[in-house]
Amino acid sequence: MYLKSIEVQGFKSFANKIRFEFNNGITGIVGPNGSGKSNVADAVRWVLGEQRVKQLRGGSMQDVIFSGTENRKPLSYAVVSITLDNSDHQLQTEFEEVTVTRKIYRSGESEYLINGKQCRLKDVNELFYDTGIGKEGYSIIGQGQIDKILSGKPEDRRELFDEAAGIVKFKRRKSISLKKLEEERQNLVRVRDILQELE
Ligand code: ATP
Repeated sequence: MYLKSIEVQGFKSFANKIRFEFNNGITGIVGPNGSGKSNVADAVRWVLGEQRVKQLRGGSMQDVIFSGTENRKPLSYAVVSITLDNSDHQLQTEFEEVTVTRKIYRSGESEYLINGKQCRLKDVNELFYDTGIGKEGYSIIGQGQIDKILSGKPEDRRELFDEAAGIVKFKRRKSISLKKLEEERQNLVRVRDILQELE
């Protein structure tokens, strides 16, 4: 699996539709300070479901929408799509190519799509569990993040290793099952109480 392309429109400094194509090997993005290099990484983080505005270097989620310049009016929405080659089927879907899209309007409305089909944020998260690509993954290492990992809490570091080892989905399934078990236990207590009252 590899990242084939990123398409952005109305996202941060990218007012016009722009498409970045990636081939095998290493790709470098170069440019003067403030030209939008980090905005490319922000776009990938955002389309993968980032909800923390601080991680996107903004004050509110709508700050990702192009806010205008002296010569150009602000835009009303931002849209980002990333396309991944999935010919090795590392992503648990039958598609050979997977495109994830996220769109946000100034009104606050937003939507996610997988291969053009509307879906929930949960579906995007589940698609990338244990691949290292999700928003919590290690595929995007931002400025200062290495220091944070090295000096962070052991539990936080453990999360990174869990993701790399591919056990995150099992941990999540376990926690959902434990929650259901607890709910059933509570139901059982209630049933016993009713039975006692009836006896
Ligand atoms: P450096 O090399 O200094 O790290 P960079 O090339 O990584 O810089 P970015 O931080 O990606 O640059 O981009 C910053 C630019 O993006 C600024 O000029 C800022 O005005 C612009 N920008 C950020 N959000 C928006 C927005 N919503 N609308 C328009 N422009 C935006």
